[in-house]
Formats: sequence, structure tokens, C-alpha cells
Amino acid sequence: MSASDSPWGNTRLPADVRLDTLAVREGLPPSQWGENAEALFLTSSFVHPSAEVAARRFANEEEAFVYTRFSNPTVSMMERRLAALEGTGACIGTSSGMAAVMLLVMGLLKAGDHVVCSRSVFGSTIKLLQGEFGKFGVQSSFVSQTDVDEWKRAIQPNTKLLFAETPSNPLTEVCDMAALADIARSAGAWLAVDNCFCTPALQRPVDYGADLVIHSGTKYLDGQGRVVAGAVCGSSELVEERFVPVMRSAGMSLSPFNAWVVLKGMETLSIRMQAQSARALALAQWLEAQPQVARVYHPGLASHPQHALAMRQQNGCGGAVVSFIVKGQGAAAARANAFATIDATRVCSITANLGDTKTTITHPASTSHGRLTEAQREAAGITQGMIRVAVGLEDLEDLKADLARGLERLS
Ligand SMILES: *Cc1c(COP(=O)(O)O)cnc(C)c1O
Repeated sequence: MSASDSPWGNTRLPADVRLDTLAVREGLPPSQWGENAEALFLTSSFVHPSAEVAARRFANEEEAFVYTRFSNPTVSMMERRLAALEGTGACIGTSSGMAAVMLLVMGLLKAGDHVVCSRSVFGSTIKLLQGEFGKFGVQSSFVSQTDVDEWKRAIQPNTKLLFAETPSNPLTEVCDMAALADIARSAGAWLAVDNCFCTPALQRPVDYGADLVIHSGTKYLDGQGRVVAGAVCGSSELVEERFVPVMRSAGMSLSPFNAWVVLKGMETLSIRMQAQSARALALAQWLEAQPQVARVYHPGLASHPQHALAMRQQNGCGGAVVSFIVKGQGAAAARANAFATIDATRVCSITANLGDTKTTITHPASTSHGRLTEAQREAAGITQGMIRVAVGLEDLEDLKADLARGLERLS
């Protein structure tokens, strides 16, 4: 059942309530029992009153829940809430962020179609587009995150989709969504934006002309590193016509339990994003002053190349991810210094995940970007001295002390 044309959703809510209210209240269905919290419907199928009614429901002549691969009340609550936050008419939950990218491509494209995608998107997105969808005849070109002219030049007559992610991981490069939306519109293509790093609490891609928004619910939407989940948000028409049929057949469905965790996580999304983003900026400013640090990447820093654009697009917040490069004579020494800094931490978790209330620390060159060749990494600016910190909710002074412990010992 799509969120858009069903009685689903909080019908008591005034139409003009704001994001923080929607995050807590939207998606609650009229309840049979009067429960105040969102109910978890752990059921694979739904019972019909008669064979006649079952036939109508299977033929889509009557809306109802049928089978959890197609839809489920808890999943619908999450979809409804996320669609409200993103300002899209509808949303469809998926089993992971990557399943959302897969659903997006399967729903929109066919063999012979072409995608223009930023070179700085999540590594698995590049692998999925180029490797897996390449096998089925979908062509992809990869372009600079920040050079709008390169996007324009990459457009072909068969270009159907522009795909961006902003800010990027781990360099926090910011792309100009309004400029990309213009290019997409002139090319008759859709613009999809992976909004994992900012979430609608900081940035709503549809406000800049994006047609579709992708989420890994695994990150800030859950917010506490518990489940893997994803979503595609878009107009009711696109979701109904393009994605619901693929979901029914291909089954990259979101588990009701995971949907429930994300649904509850979204209630604190805005407050977490603001608090984690503020800590990240303060940590970035402190890192910039450390003699062992060569460079710091955070969109909130005045030294960030797209600082003004980021502040405009991201509601004045830089996001919660900070990357920095420790000094070192040559790649091997820089890597040893990065490892020593990471290994000296006692508060941060050494893990590549992000979006958690627990601060995570990782060495991109040997983990998330370890499958690239040294030349590809150099071209991408991901050097051996780079460390990425996804800042959580611990006390800022404890985080500074945690990084200082290793940095102070570097030669
Ligand atoms: C993690 C991530 C994904 C993939 O999400 P999963 O839930 O791990 O499948 C996609 N895009 C971005 C930006 C991510 O950080």
C-alpha cells in the first residue's frame, strides 16, 4: 500500500506542522487499540475475510495489506514519516541503502540507458552501477563531484539519470544540487541524490530540484547503529509506477522490525544531527590547530572549498563527518602515523560505519577505499595519512583527548 493514496498517516495532524513535529508524529495510522507508540507488525501475510475479497486485493482492485514483501503497516509508517520529512509524495523502504540504489536503477532504467554519476559517491554505488548494471547494458559515466561543466559534458542523448551524493565520503566535497537539477531538466533526465550524510534534518534535495532521494537508513535515520535499512523517496507517481512493481517482484523489502527501529530513530533525528554536527565542527576546528595535522575536511570550516554552498544547502550545518590528514614523510610514514592515532583511541570505535551516537574512526585508504588501486586513491585525494571520524554524542572534550592521545606521540 503506498503512503500517498491510502488513509494511512496521522490524519489528526494539521497540514502545516514542521519537520520536528512530523519526525515524531507523522505515520501513525488510525489505531484499533489506541496505542500511542508505533506498533510493530511482525507478520508475513495478512488474512482476508473471504476468497472474493482476497481475489480483489490480489488484483489490486481493493487496497489492503496482503504480504510483507509488498507492504506492511510498520514499514508504511516509516515510509510515510520519511516521505513527510523529505517533502516527497511517497517513499518505499528497502532492505539496505544499496537495495535502494538497486531499486532506483531497476525502476527507472533499461539496457541502453545512461547514468551520469559523481566519482565521489559511496564505493558500492559505483560498483553496482558499473559492474552489476553494466552487465545488463546500463552505461555509466563518472564525473567530478564539484565541476558542474564536467556533468554537462557527460550528458548523452540516452542519459536518463544523474546521481549525486553530498557531502561525499570521506572528503566531504559538496555538489551544487540546483545546478545538477538544471542539467537534468534540460537533458530530460531524473536527478537522484543520496541524502545519507545530511538527512532531511539538514538538507532536503527536492528543495533544490532533485526528483528522487536515496537513503541508507543504516546511518543517521536509525542513528544508533542497530539495523541495516534503506529507502527511495519520490513523487507518488514515480513510486507507484516505477518502484512498487519492482519491489513486489524483486523483493528487496524492508523488514518490519528494521523499519520500526528506523521509525523510532527518526524521532530524535533533528536533535541528533544538530548536536553531532556542532561537535564535529568544534572537533574540526580543534584539529586544524594541531601541529601533527596537515589538513582537515569539514564543510563547516571556513577553509572548506565549498563552505558557502554547504552552509546554504545544509541549513548552516556541516554534518557530523570530519576527515583529517596526519603528517608523515612519505606514504608509509603517514599510514603508520594514522594507524597509531587510531590505535591510541579508547573512546572512539574503530569501525567503518557512521551515523551512530557512538563516534567511529576509520582509515579510509585501507578499509572503505581499500579496493581501489593506489593511483585511483591518489586521484580521489584519499591518502595514507587520512583518518575519518564520524562524530557521535560523547562529550567533545573526551573526543579531543581521545585523538590527542595518539597525535601527541607522533614523531
Ligand atoms: C552506507 C551508505 C550506503 C549503503 O547503505 P547500506 O545500508 O550499507 O546498504 C549508501 N550511500 C551512502 C552515502 C552510505 O554511507
